[in-house]
Amino acid sequence: MAEFDVDLFVIGGGSGGVRAARIAAGYGARVTIAEEYRMGGTCVIRGCVPKKLFVIGSHFRHELEDAAGFGWTVPPASFDWPTLIANKDKEIARLEAAYTANVEKSGAQIVKSRAVIEDKHTIRLLENDRKITARYILIATGGAPNHGASIPGIEHVISSNEAFHLARLPKRIVIQGGGYIALEFAGIFAGFGSDVTVIYRGDNILRGFDEDVRVHVRAEMEKQGITILTGCTVSKVDRHGDEFTTHLSNGSSIASEQVMFAIGRHPAVANLGLENAGVAINPANGGIAVDHFSRSSVDSIYAIGDVTHRFNLTPVAIREGHAFADTVFGKREVKVDHANIPTAVFSQPEVGTVGLTETEARAQFSHVDIYKTSFRPIKATMSGRDTRVLMKLVVDGSTDRVLGCHIVGDAAAEITQAVAIAVKMKATKADFDATIALHPTAAEELVTMRTPTARHVRQAAE
Ligand code: NDP
Repeated sequence: MAEFDVDLFVIGGGSGGVRAARIAAGYGARVTIAEEYRMGGTCVIRGCVPKKLFVIGSHFRHELEDAAGFGWTVPPASFDWPTLIANKDKEIARLEAAYTANVEKSGAQIVKSRAVIEDKHTIRLLENDRKITARYILIATGGAPNHGASIPGIEHVISSNEAFHLARLPKRIVIQGGGYIALEFAGIFAGFGSDVTVIYRGDNILRGFDEDVRVHVRAEMEKQGITILTGCTVSKVDRHGDEFTTHLSNGSSIASEQVMFAIGRHPAVANLGLENAGVAINPANGGIAVDHFSRSSVDSIYAIGDVTHRFNLTPVAIREGHAFADTVFGKREVKVDHANIPTAVFSQPEVGTVGLTETEARAQFSHVDIYKTSFRPIKATMSGRDTRVLMKLVVDGSTDRVLGCHIVGDAAAEITQAVAIAVKMKATKADFDATIALHPTAAEELVTMRTPTARHVRQAAE
């Protein structure tokens, strides 16, 4: 009789957990994966995928407006929120079924239950109070939205989870936060026709992104009519029937039909039984503490993805899940290289970024050259839209290596994915220059910027 019921028990059927389960099963491991909600996790069910569908849908407003300059007469367009929601739900259900089928095809078994760790090799399924023993346990439970301080009226505030299921499109919405989710939903709601106010506590949105990107995105969003209030927070929310009054720390207040917070996400570590096995939490970020191989403080228990609060991005969780399976079941140790992870904010306009910001580069390198351009995209010349694209390369002036690339504008995410290969390969500015431009595109600017717009040389200390 086998020593354990299964070789691997995965808690969480999101992108990372599913990848780990499938790859481990492919190596011949007996795998069970528990999911208490829906297979697919945050990204598929209430994150990246439905968000991108919403972004695409909301973008039609711009297309309809821009068409006139190209000769089109577009009859007054109307938008039906329930149709969007229903079609989105259909697509998400299709994806969930595909995730389920793919896991089952790999030979792994799915159990629909919350799973709690009893000890370093034992899981209890709450659904039927069954115990399962496993040689290895992988925690891939992801994260959940932060609600912030318990201000009066916090119960009226929605998160992105609820934003995907609203019964109707709010005429006015207040969104607190200045990061990915806040700005993505600001663009979505504005595109569909809502009046949007963003409340951000700092001096400018997108903290941590390149300063030029932050300034550019804010200006572009404001041009589209999105109000961005900085230096304040939401202190109270009053409800009057279907309406809300949001009170701000600066003394002002805003009426709206919805109030949403997008103020970060925390790792889903609660009520998992971590203490039963002695799994340590990283005090710096509240996630499960892991080493380079995603192994926790307990040698039979691993953790990947958002629950470790390293880089909370789906492709990172997938890579970590794959590396875990290779390392533990594939007999080859794989460490995930977390350097130069490309990322995009699907705000409107969208942001694509890979590598170092100008500020980070200047802190690490003594000679940094900046190549920056801002231009009117070709489409705007005929549509008349008041918009500009930003492209910026951060270059190590000593070695000529491209350290970072930052783009704001249409297709920024798509361009950045390709540029990320070059940055990962340590391409130099000379490599970019040697690449012949593809004309007419916006991305050709990346290979045609000849002269640095700024040069920062740090003098050696006397
Ligand atoms: P972010 O960390 O991107 O942004 C959180 C925002 O909320 C920041 O502006 C932050 O301000 C602000 N904030 C934090 N705490 C408070 C508070 N107590 N009161 C007021 N404001 C506060 O988190 P999101 O929630 O937008 O997204 C969570 C994560 O999910 C992202 O970090 C990202 O990793 C991932 N994600 C990725 C996406 C993508 O790849 N396109 C899309 C959506 C999410 P400050 O900057 O001052 O700290």
